[in-house]
Amino acid sequence: MAVAKKISGFIEKSSWIRKMFEEGEQLRRQYGADKVFDFTLGNPDVDPPADFYGAFKRLANDPIPGMHRYMNNAGYVETRKAVAATLSAASELPVEADHVVMTVGAGGALNTVLKTILNPGDEVIILTPFFVEYRFYIDNHGGVPVEVWTDRETFQLDIDAIGLAINAKTRAIIVCSPNNPTGVIYPAESLKRLGELVSAKEQEFGRQICVISDEPYARIVYDGNNVPNIFRYVQNSVIVTSHSKDLALPGERIGYLAANPRMKNVGQFMEGTIFSNRVLGFVNAPALMQRLVAELQNSSVDIAAYQTKRDILYNALTGMGFEMVKPDGAFYFFPKSPLADDVEFVKAAQKHKILLVPGVGFGAPGYFRIAYCVDQGMIERSLPAWAELARELGI
Ligand code: PLP
Repeated sequence: MAVAKKISGFIEKSSWIRKMFEEGEQLRRQYGADKVFDFTLGNPDVDPPADFYGAFKRLANDPIPGMHRYMNNAGYVETRKAVAATLSAASELPVEADHVVMTVGAGGALNTVLKTILNPGDEVIILTPFFVEYRFYIDNHGGVPVEVWTDRETFQLDIDAIGLAINAKTRAIIVCSPNNPTGVIYPAESLKRLGELVSAKEQEFGRQICVISDEPYARIVYDGNNVPNIFRYVQNSVIVTSHSKDLALPGERIGYLAANPRMKNVGQFMEGTIFSNRVLGFVNAPALMQRLVAELQNSSVDIAAYQTKRDILYNALTGMGFEMVKPDGAFYFFPKSPLADDVEFVKAAQKHKILLVPGVGFGAPGYFRIAYCVDQGMIERSLPAWAELARELGI
């Protein structure tokens, strides 16, 4: 069966990570897995924390009757209450279970929100460099992505540039903090300025603009940092997130969306998201995982281990002359490409069996991404290869 032209075009455009993965497989077959340094995927190499397995065993030993049946499309009220309590504490606002819908990961939450709010041709601002799936998720629901660069040195929000991009068609802005691929956290002051900008533009254009805060890395933060809660600063805001990274459960597809209780027409928005979650075919988030994560809202994998990996790689690579922003959270670096062409640089790195993703895969040529959610031993073993690469390129 022929594939739609749009889909084949998208596959071609978004093939970077897959291409790198396939070439990595080839190198692994050729040289052995321990000789290849694969930094391409944001797939945590750690297992979920012990309390996840504790909760899992308790539930398996004492199953709740009917626990595998369909449920309210929004998800179990106990789970939504647990999420709401965490968000109330973080935002100091009265977030309730009715403001939360459990979703199939953060990807499911993003699609559910976009389906709910977009009319055909509505524009959604995404901030470069960005998680590449945003473009496709926006297209899924008839929207048009508008790319706006963050500051090219710090990757912080460029509020003036966002202001210039907002027009009468803008319906949403997606922010991601801690960011994939840069690892930066947007400070409270930036979110406050974003909130003020959005309200001013809402007045100017007479339409609501939703700030969608994509936060799957919110619990993966270093050096005592924390992620300011968007609800405090932006009235029409929604959090989309998951436990793919903080509890290392990406294969289980469990996440949620939560609306700011101060959002205009919040009841109507929530009704829309519950409907969208259903008709996108998700129906509801996985039942078993909802039961488990309800108990794990204050839990996470070992963040100190990620910080150690960040420090080893950051100190080594900057010592060799690579230029990069030191990440505050998540598990990525987004250094400047030492060669003007980031794809050429990634190919040069591959010759040293270092696998990376070029910046062009994030809408940002001239950079490259390192995912360090990998074994610490592999990071350490890779350092001589990095040093050779740096020498070869005369960095
Ligand atoms: N948003 C960002 C920024 C991500 O990095 C990812 C996954 O890597 C997602 C969303 C999707 O996460 P999930 O696995 O929960 O769908």
